[in-house]
Amino acid sequence: MHDAAGLTTHYVANFTDLSGVKDAETRADWLSHFDSMTGLPNRTLLQDRTRQALSMVQRAQQPLTLMLVSIDHFGAINETLGHQTGDQVLIEVARRLTRSVREQDTVSRLGGKEFVMVLPGTDGAGAAHLAGELQTELAQPCTLQAQEVRVTVSIGIACYPQDGHDFDALLKAVELAMRRAQTEGHNQFQFYSAEMYQKVLERESMTQALRQAMALEQLHLVYQPQVDLQSGQVCGLEALLRWTHPQFGAVSPAQFIPMAEQAGLIVGMGEWVLRRACGDIRRWLDHGMAVPTVSVNVSPLQFRNNDLLAQVRAALDDTQVAPGLLYIEVTEGALMDDVPRNEAMLRELKKLGTKLSLDDFGTGYSSLSYLKRFPFDQIKIDQSFVRDITSNVSDQMLVKVIVSMAHGFGMRVIAEGVETEAQCEIMRNSLCEEIQGYFFSRPISFQDIEALFLQHRQLPEHLLRLQRPQPTLLVVDDEPGILAALKRLFRRDGYAILTANSGDEGLAVLARQRVDIIISDQRMPGMTGVDFLRSAKKLYPETIRIVLSGYTELQSVTAAINEGAVYRFLTKPWDDQALREQIREALQHRQVVEENRQLEMQVHNTNRELMAANRQLQDLLQQFRPGGVARPTQS
Ligand code: C2E
Ligand code: MG
Ligand code: MG
Repeated sequence: MHDAAGLTTHYVANFTDLSGVKDAETRADWLSHFDSMTGLPNRTLLQDRTRQALSMVQRAQQPLTLMLVSIDHFGAINETLGHQTGDQVLIEVARRLTRSVREQDTVSRLGGKEFVMVLPGTDGAGAAHLAGELQTELAQPCTLQAQEVRVTVSIGIACYPQDGHDFDALLKAVELAMRRAQTEGHNQFQFYSAEMYQKVLERESMTQALRQAMALEQLHLVYQPQVDLQSGQVCGLEALLRWTHPQFGAVSPAQFIPMAEQAGLIVGMGEWVLRRACGDIRRWLDHGMAVPTVSVNVSPLQFRNNDLLAQVRAALDDTQVAPGLLYIEVTEGALMDDVPRNEAMLRELKKLGTKLSLDDFGTGYSSLSYLKRFPFDQIKIDQSFVRDITSNVSDQMLVKVIVSMAHGFGMRVIAEGVETEAQCEIMRNSLCEEIQGYFFSRPISFQDIEALFLQHRQLPEHLLRLQRPQPTLLVVDDEPGILAALKRLFRRDGYAILTANSGDEGLAVLARQRVDIIISDQRMPGMTGVDFLRSAKKLYPETIRIVLSGYTELQSVTAAINEGAVYRFLTKPWDDQALREQIREALQHRQVVEENRQLEMQVHNTNRELMAANRQLQDLLQQFRPGGVARPTQS
């Protein structure tokens, strides 16, 4: 309010108390999502939570279980003890159910006497275990209105993804399973599918056996060599765990590692692996071998356990192995739950002197900001990118991007699961440093590794970066006479010559082997020469592609030349001397490209080393900052 002179003298404020309205709104909102009697989420919220949980486990490739718990003979309780006691029973069951599950699980009331639980990360075996616990827990008598009441329950279990992919399907499955539990006589649990139950039983007996595996000496390690693409030499080994059981035979780690994690055995087992790997390094050193780095896989559960550091230190100390020989391999999944803690753990491991490798890169979150933050020395490109790389252009692009990004952070790159020469060649061209896979060697025993070193086994010469490989020609023509003639002609010049009868066959050859020059007929049954060369260009852009044709279908060929799919167009019949000259010239062109690439590689390498040095420097600086807090720099 203003006075006559226009000066502000007072303020007027107007208040309305909205808390009543707000409370009512909140209550209405609450009622639409929660069951008023038990305070548990209702069906609407259950549906929501299940959807969220499903999308979470899908990403993390985890299982999920839905469980329906129905109170047996609830009608009789209501009738004999009264509705009020009936309500008390519901509240008590809700309380006990909630008490029995983990934080990430949801317990909801579906209505009536039925409760549904969503258990992300729990598989069939875990659900069976929990169902047993619930039966015991709920069977404990409770005193309600001065009367002792005991209840039993019938439980149905359905598992994602086997029994359904969405909420509706899983709910239907779990209802059916619960009905079966009721018709089979109540007070029990049933799985939706019989196979599921069978699997649970098998798994249980396998888990039992796994508990004794270490004591019975059924575990051993094999080692898979990793080779350097520049020198061709073995530059690392990955220790991989094996379990051989007298009855189950050789069980895959993909199967038993998750079991060991669930049964709480992984920390002990992981410690055994660390000790054994360091022990093996010691024995190799004692045998006079030039031991390369050895990678040990560490499960996310080990990584979350604070004993890991002490275990690594003890394994190294007891065997007198230099920490720099040991790589610790972790997957992204292990790092994302508690980033600050995990970052600190990684730094502690680095301080010990071990190296760090990020396994299965590309399958998890692959968050760039975290990648930059974590002090990894190496990332391993997951097999799934390598598997189809010879035929999948977008995988090729991805690999190139991953490599240049990793180099930007000063990390080395190794490709996993390299099975063919063509895959190896693509990795080399993508400037990847190392490969690991069946192409060079499967995982082999301690002794076989020693033999491999004695024989100085290496990658084949022609695959090495610094060597000039034997020029390779691929000739594609549907006429055998022409193939034979060209083969005779070029053999004199010392080329390796491959042949194919059609475009499809040509592509198959390219997927297997490195080729420098492709000479293709134009008119062939199936794919035309130009179309074949177009595909070849997409997948193997570095090849030099030539059409040799009796027909001058100018239009299609001109188009192909203009878009760069074809380097030269030559006509049949050809002049031997001129053709040889053309090929020689094309090869020279190709060699210039190759030399350029090698230069690029060297620049890349130097850059990567610079980046790595930079990161180390930054880490050092960080250590010397008091309390890790940055001080303003004066420069
Ligand atoms: P990983 O660490 O990604 O190991 C690579 C897997 O790829 C190994 O399977 C290896 O045998 C396989 N492999 C290598 N080269 C090729 C190839 O050219 N083609 C194909 N198709 N596969 C190839 P493996 O030995 O069955 O191990 C599977 C997974 O089990 C490992 O994946 C790792 O995650 C886990 N694992 C193995 N040993 C240990 C261990 O000691 N501790 C822990 N925590 N996990 C382990
Ligand atoms: Mg690994
Ligand atoms: Mg891997």
